[in-house]
Amino acid sequence: TTPMDPSVFEAMTPYFLDKFGNASSKNHSFGHEAERAVEHSRRIIAEAVGAEPDEIYFTSGATESINLALFGIAQAYYGKGRHIISVVTEHSAVIDSLKLLEQKGFEVTLLPVKSDGSIDTGLLEKSITDETILVSVMTANNETGSINDAEAVGAICKERDIFFHTDATQAIGKITFNVSANNASLASFTGHKIYGPKGVGALYIRKTSPRIKLIPQTYGGGHEKGIRSGTLNVPGIVGFGKAVRMSAELLEEETFRIKNLRDRLFEGMKSNVDGIELNGGMENRLPHNLNISIQNVRAENLITEIRDIAVSTGAACSSSSPKPSRVLKALGLSDEQAFSSIRFGIGRFNTEEEIDYAVDKFSNTIKNLRVSSPLAELSKN
Ligand code: PLP
Repeated sequence: TTPMDPSVFEAMTPYFLDKFGNASSKNHSFGHEAERAVEHSRRIIAEAVGAEPDEIYFTSGATESINLALFGIAQAYYGKGRHIISVVTEHSAVIDSLKLLEQKGFEVTLLPVKSDGSIDTGLLEKSITDETILVSVMTANNETGSINDAEAVGAICKERDIFFHTDATQAIGKITFNVSANNASLASFTGHKIYGPKGVGALYIRKTSPRIKLIPQTYGGGHEKGIRSGTLNVPGIVGFGKAVRMSAELLEEETFRIKNLRDRLFEGMKSNVDGIELNGGMENRLPHNLNISIQNVRAENLITEIRDIAVSTGAACSSSSPKPSRVLKALGLSDEQAFSSIRFGIGRFNTEEEIDYAVDKFSNTIKNLRVSSPLAELSKN
C-alpha cells in the first residue's frame, strides 16, 4: 500500500465535514454537490485509462471490482460457455473467485508463467476452446512487478470474441494503461496503491463493441446504474480521483526517480552482500518493485530483525504453517529460494538517504544472520 498524498487528503476533507451530502439524494444542494464531485472523479479516472465516464463504476476496491467482474460475467454468459482462462500468479481475489466458479461448474485453466513472471501468449491462444467466455490476466503482478503484454492478450480475446478482464491494480498510475489500446472488456482498479485512500476502487465495464452485460453482485438502492448498489463513498471517490490525476501528471518524472532509487537499492545490496538474486526479469517490470532472494537467509528471520522498514516476504504466512509464495514458485523458484525472498516497494516519498539506510541495515543484518544461521553452516560443508 502507499501513504496518502497530503494533497489527496486535503481534497477529501471537505467531503467528510461540510460537503457531507449523499450523491444520490438529488433533491437538495448537499446531494448535488456530492454528485458533482463524484462525477468529476469519474471523468478523471475515465480520462486516465482511455474510457468514457459512464464506463467507470465505483466500488470498495479492487477485490470487489474483481469479484463483480468475474461473477458478473459468469452469471450473465454461462449459456455461452463455461470455460475461463487465467494465470497462476494472479492475486487471490481472482484465484479464489475462480475456485468458487469451478465449484459451480465452470472449467478454469490457470496458465503458467515464464521465469520473468509474464505469460506466454502463444500458450494462451492454445488454451482457448469453443467454451471459453472469459480471460482474466493481470496487467502487472504485485509480488514480482512483472508486466504482461496486455495489448497482445486483448487482441487475442477480441479476435476470438472472448471477454478480457484485467486486474490493473498495480498498473494504474505506475505504467501507461489504456483500455482502448489493450481492448479490455473489464478492468479493476484501487485507490490505495497510488497514494489515495483505502476502501475505494473502480471497475471499468466496456459499453461498446461489444457492450458488456454484468449481473450485479449487490442489491439495494440501484446505485451505479444498478450494477453496484450502496451509498457512494464520496470522500473516498474524491480522493481516488485526485490520486489518479496526480499519478497521471507525475508518471514520467516519478517513474524515472523511483526506478533510480530501486536500482540504487539493488546495486547497493549486491555490492554489500553475496548471494543476492533478482526474482523475475528487470525488463518489463514495475519501476517501484524489487523482489530478491538472499541465499542462506530466511526472509522471515530477516524481517523480524528489522522493524523500521516495511518489506514483505511475499509469502502467505500463517503462524503455524508458513507457506512459500505461490507466485515465486510459479517463476520456478525452489521452496528454499522462495523462503529466502523479500520484496521492496519504493514510493513517491522515499529518498536516497532512506535507500542507503535500507541497504546498510539489510546488509548488516544479513551478515549477522548468516554467521548465526545453521543454513549458512550447511552451505560451508
Ligand atoms: N489485485 C492486486 C494485483 C493487488 O495488488 C491488490 C492489493 O492488495 C488487490 C488486487 C486487492 O486490492 P484491494 O486492496 O483494493 O481490494
